Amino acid sequence: MKTRGRSRIGLGVAVAALMASFAAAPGTAQADSGRRCSGGYVALTFDDGPTSATAAYLKALRDAGRVRATFFVTGSLAQADPDGTRRIAAEGHAIGNHSYTHPNLVELDAATAFAELRDTSRVVRAQTGRAPVFFRPPFGSTDARTRQDAARLGMTEVIWTADTVDWSGIPADTIAANALTVRPGGIILLHDGLPTTLEAIPKIVDGLAERDLCAGRIVRSATPVEAWPGLTFHAKAARW
Ligand SMILES: [Zn+2]
Repeated sequence: MKTRGRSRIGLGVAVAALMASFAAAPGTAQADSGRRCSGGYVALTFDDGPTSATAAYLKALRDAGRVRATFFVTGSLAQADPDGTRRIAAEGHAIGNHSYTHPNLVELDAATAFAELRDTSRVVRAQTGRAPVFFRPPFGSTDARTRQDAARLGMTEVIWTADTVDWSGIPADTIAANALTVRPGGIILLHDGLPTTLEAIPKIVDGLAERDLCAGRIVRSATPVEAWPGLTFHAKAARW
């Protein structure tokens, strides 16, 4: 009786843990058990969407084990493709603000620069019901005013710690190798709309798994993180 009772409790705990993992990541098969994720978390980020390739990216992420990422969308593209934005959100990914027209924000007058961020947050909120809480400046070009604009809109600036340079015409294997220079807690820069980046997704996920790293969400970091000498930001990857 005692043994049976204990095993029943054991089963109950296992079921509860399973339910919790489903609650944390709807529909995911990625329970964070055993060695998995013991290396920590890194964030996959895809800028410049939604694009005509977004659906294929979402499928690649599903096929790689229901991996979740953060899509920093361009407001004008989101406005033109509401289904793209909604689908990203519906599949459990996070949506960040990447400005409305992808300008170099520091070169704009104050009102125009602020409108770039404000209008993008409005579009994302209208389409998904939730305004972004993270913002990435186009080209990583930022200054104190840009960060203040983001803060006024409830957003934390996010740069990156691993730049894949995936836009430069390099092959998928090189994109993956660049991504896999990431350290635990780090943030990988990738772009929507590139066939080579799409091809790199399973390679990146496999490479992370070899290091017991899992794809995580972006959270605020109390301590500054260096993007490159002279530029820090306050965000890191953590469990979803
Ligand atoms: Zn961009």
